[in-house]
Amino acid sequence: MKTITTHYIDGAFVESHGREVMDIIRPTDGQVIGRVTLADEEDTRRAIDAAKRAFATYGRSTKEERAKILRRLHDAVAAHIDDLTDAMVEEYGCPVMFSRLMMEAAANVFLSAEKALQELPLTRSWNKTTVTLEPTGVAGLITPWNANSFFLSAKLASAVAAGCTAVIKPSELSALQTRAWLVCLDEAKLPKGVCNLVIGRGDVVGAEIVRNTDVAKISFTGSVAVGKSIMRDGAATMKRVTLELGGKSPNILLDDADLSRAIPTTLAIAFMNSGQACVAGTRLLAPKSRLDEVKRAIKEAIHAFPAGDPSDPKTAIGPMATQKQYDRVQSYIRKGIEEGAEVLVGGEGHPEGLAGYFVKPTIFVNVKNDMTIAREEIFGPVLCVIAYDDDEDAIRIANDTSFGLHAYVNGTDVRRARRAASQLLAGRVAINGLLDDQQAPFGGFKNSGVGREFGTYGIEAFLEPRAILEA
Ligand code: NAD
Repeated sequence: MKTITTHYIDGAFVESHGREVMDIIRPTDGQVIGRVTLADEEDTRRAIDAAKRAFATYGRSTKEERAKILRRLHDAVAAHIDDLTDAMVEEYGCPVMFSRLMMEAAANVFLSAEKALQELPLTRSWNKTTVTLEPTGVAGLITPWNANSFFLSAKLASAVAAGCTAVIKPSELSALQTRAWLVCLDEAKLPKGVCNLVIGRGDVVGAEIVRNTDVAKISFTGSVAVGKSIMRDGAATMKRVTLELGGKSPNILLDDADLSRAIPTTLAIAFMNSGQACVAGTRLLAPKSRLDEVKRAIKEAIHAFPAGDPSDPKTAIGPMATQKQYDRVQSYIRKGIEEGAEVLVGGEGHPEGLAGYFVKPTIFVNVKNDMTIAREEIFGPVLCVIAYDDDEDAIRIANDTSFGLHAYVNGTDVRRARRAASQLLAGRVAINGLLDDQQAPFGGFKNSGVGREFGTYGIEAFLEPRAILEA
């Protein structure tokens, strides 16, 4: 049984002022494996005060000073990939192979931010005008539970690169993972107060960060509903906001796609992180002319995506993070059946021999784009196959969504695939693969959010231009 009673404020682990204790539950079997004492408003204000004090100095740091800090953060996270991976597997149930990839990305994101910082001109001048990009101030970084240490690293990397100080509020469902990450942060020996972290509830700690006048910027990753409330409540203090919200990403199989490659990729895109991924490609748009072939290819490829013990390297799909998440996925599977979609693979209930919060990876065919399962983010391993007539129809269906975070296109004629990609309303479009580039902007059109993260785009989101004009 692990017990966590401290937060990280002003360069040290400090006992929680908040007294509420929450159980930490293992999703593979629902057992209580630890307890965390949650922060209250007072803990949050202490963290904000520390960040405010630190900003007076760190806000004037040079590029080289920030670069050094980013390298130290990289080294500390890279040295603890095993511990971070283990925590993510145990507390969240993430399949170990995916977890390790995420933790490697969590280390690399600091070097990517350093590279972007070196490339970003912080001063520009012409005639007698000089423009400098100034750090916005204290940044509140609020993250969800589905890739905890990666989000903490990614947001901190951009904030620190910009010269901002930070108060981080991870999901209250990520206490063990956060503790493993804090060990890295402590080892990186940042100047006191540059990065503070309080673990607590959204409506307590998150709400205090959003309303506090000493916080200038919020970078949030999470649900659309909470994102909207942050935008609304943050307006009172004119917060700058970056919102990374949900998705219902289309994955277009053009009719010249090589199914032997595209279908395994499609399943990996739909089921990554056990389907609890904002970028999951959960609407597969398949050409009517090849529908039977697509179904056959799916039934063959699904065997390579077993649900099971997340610590087994062969497992592709772990349990859902919580009972609530399990119930949510079950209710969508039921809804899909009620609305007339046909179950090709999976269905309701637990996979054979597995209890806990495991769900059956489920693939629906005969899905219409106006069904609930095609419109709402399920956040579980559920894929909807939607048939289309021609390329134009595929693009129309792909864009007929309230989201716009990611999209995928598969086809052998690359020029045709690019043409389709250029018409998709999504912040990122990947052609022929599950691809990432930490220098490329990441964020959404429409309800998927506001602003961009990563690379120079991510750093700029923590900067304010100041122009000085001389006579
Ligand atoms: P959530 O919105 O419930 O919570 C996200 C964070 O916000 C948590 O730390 C939570 O405690 C906090 N929060 C809750 N209420 C708050 C409030 N009133 N004020 C301030 N903070 C508050 O989301 P979740 O359930 O943790 O995560 C799942 C969601 O995150 C999904 O919708 C998913 O699509 C989204 N997500 C988006 C991305 C992306 O980059 N676009 C990535 C991962 C997850």
